[in-house]
Formats: sequence, C-alpha cells, structure tokens
Amino acid sequence: MNHRYSERICSTQKSFIREILKVTADPEIISFAGGLPNPNLIDDEGIQNAAAALLKEDGKTALQYSTTEGHPPLREWIAERYRTRYGLSVDADQILITNGSQQCLDLVGKVYLDKGDSVVVEDPGYLGAIQSFSMFQPEFLSVSLNEEGPDLEQLADVLNTSSPKFMYGIPNSQNPSGITYSENRRRDLAAILCESDVPFIEDDAYGELQFDGVARRPVSAYMDGEGVLTGSFSKIFSPGMRMGWVCAPAEVMDKVLIAKQASDLHSNYLSQRILSKYLETNDINAHIAVINEEYRKRAEWMVSRMEECFPDDVSFTRPTGGMFVWLTLPEGVSSTRLFDAALKQKVAILPGTPFYADGGGESTARINFSNSDEEQIMTGIKIVADVLEEIRIT
Ligand code: PMP
Repeated sequence: MNHRYSERICSTQKSFIREILKVTADPEIISFAGGLPNPNLIDDEGIQNAAAALLKEDGKTALQYSTTEGHPPLREWIAERYRTRYGLSVDADQILITNGSQQCLDLVGKVYLDKGDSVVVEDPGYLGAIQSFSMFQPEFLSVSLNEEGPDLEQLADVLNTSSPKFMYGIPNSQNPSGITYSENRRRDLAAILCESDVPFIEDDAYGELQFDGVARRPVSAYMDGEGVLTGSFSKIFSPGMRMGWVCAPAEVMDKVLIAKQASDLHSNYLSQRILSKYLETNDINAHIAVINEEYRKRAEWMVSRMEECFPDDVSFTRPTGGMFVWLTLPEGVSSTRLFDAALKQKVAILPGTPFYADGGGESTARINFSNSDEEQIMTGIKIVADVLEEIRIT
C-alpha cells in the first residue's frame, strides 16, 4: 500500500520518544524518559488571570484571525529581550511567532531543503529536528560533540567534501547531551561557517534555562547578523500554549513567511494574546529564576545520587542548565537492555541510539531531571544502578 503515500512520509520514522512516552505514562512509573517541564512550575494561576482579563477587555479580537508574523507587542518583547539580554541588534520585523519552536524546524526545512540536499547536525542531535528535517529527505552529515561543542576538525572535513544547506545546532544545554558550547568554540564555529557560507540554524530552546542565569552569546552574534535563531516559551511559560519564534534576517524571513502562510496562516492567536498579557502583568524574570533554582537542585540531587550509586566506569554529564543528564555506560553495555530491565522495575530512562542520525550510541542514555522530585530521583537512580549491575552480570 506504500505506493499511495509520499516517499517523504514513508521514509520518516515515528518519534521514538513520543512512542516511549506512551509506555511510560503509567503514574506508577518513575519516568526519567521524557522532557517535560515540571508542572508545579507552570504559573497556571497567573495564566488564568491573564486570560480572564484579556477575554474581558478584548475577547472578540483575541478570538479572531490575525497576521502571519504574529502579535506585534509580543514580537517587540522578544526583540527587546535579544537586545537587552544578548546585546544583539534585533528588530521586531525579524521575529515571527510559531506554534512552538518545533514548527521553526519544519519551516526551516521547507525554506532550505530539497530532496538529496545535505545538512550538518550534531552527533548526538535533537531527535525532533532529525525527524522534522527527514521529511525533506536530506542527507545528514553528523559532527561529533565534545565538551566544548562541535568537533571543528570534523566539521572542516565535512565542509571540504560537501556543500550543506545549513548546520543545525543547540549551543545551550543541548538536547540530548546537556553540553553547552564554550565561548571560543562559538566564535570559531561561526568563523568556519561564515568562510564556507553555510548558515547556522541556532536552536535556543534552553537559553533561559541556565542555572547561573548567565546569557551566553549566541553563535549567530559572531556571524554579522546572518544567523537564524529559534526560541521557545515552552520551558519558561507553558509548553501546551505552543508558543515559539524564529528570528531571522530580512531575506530569510521573507521565505519563512511564505512557508508559515502555507502551513497554518498564523500561530494560535489566543495563545499569543494571553502570553502577551501575561508578560505585561507578571515578572517573568522572577519566574525564570525560580525555575532555574528548582532545576539546579534537581540536577544536583541526580548527579550526587549517580556519584553515590553508579560504578566508576559509568560516566555522566554535570548539567549547568536545561533538563537532562547524559549517561555513557561501559562499552558493550546496551542502554536498550537497561531500558527494558529498568522498566520492569517501574523506572524509565531514554536509550541514546535514536539521537544518532547515522546510528551508534548503543551505550548512551538521556536522563531527565526536571519532572521528578527528590524522592523519585533518589529511588529511581538507585534502581537504575541496581539493574545495571544485574544486566552486566547476566
Ligand atoms: N528544540 C529543542 C532542542 C527541544 O528540546 C524542543 C522540545 N523539547 C524543541 C525544540 C521544541 O519545543 P517547543 O516546540 O515546545 O518549543
């Protein structure tokens, strides 16, 4: 029956994470598998007040169709944040509001990719981006990440032998590895990409989730305003409202606008208006500081429990932001086996293999800390450690 369907849909995999989340949705399971923001840190009361005030004051307009680019005050708020937080000279015209930042990846794919084009991705890379770009049937060129960011020698080799349409990366608390690019690496990466005239699609979903509160200079800032940045309100406001944005220079924005119009006319206008009202009437900086402090504590509990329970030949990252710890098991120990065995004990982790566009990563796993409390972390990590010992012996 496949002849009925497009090549693009037949060649794209279902999201492994979304499939796993169905299995781990059982409330009895301690789940480190997902990537959910902590529900206790969603300001539902503030959002309820903003929504009620908005509907009372301007309900009929807020429930109407709107412009493709998005609500002007919201675009201006985002542009202003780039100016004050990152020192970038961004203007509201460069911002388009999307339905979550995931939609940016689809729009970017539509704007840049034809079948058979190549794109550079991080190895491991964000699964949602690999899936989104797969719809355009590109060739993925993977570049490994090390502690400071992408391996630039590998990148130079890739750029010597191919002409990718763009490179996609997540410089702040990368999903899945948790790595944050160093400042030097950002600068050198920008230089290499500029020299080869390859745009950087900079996914900054975790830019505000930095435990030290420091705003790290985007790679795009070293590229003479040529970079394309994507951002999200999911982790600092609400993922269910589906509010994200793309920030791009005028020429790119012109194309993004066409893709967006064809896709869905405009992003959920009611969500945009509620968000905008919320930002007017609440101190989002104070809210972000609370989230960061809560996540910092959770990351610390998780890392110290891992240090206590895991054998020395298991390594793991020490996150300075974001929502994940990245685990590397001893060679030959499969994280899929660990996943199966831990799930029987009602703890879920996420095997790392789907994050590798070219295969590999059998001994890696992603562990989420944002959505568990101290007790779940203490109990869950001990169970993972015990199960790991068991599967090594058998
Ligand atoms: N980029 C990255 C790196 C992510 O981790 C996620 C979601 N976890 C997204 C984009 C998409 O997020 P959203 O659509 O909710 O903004």
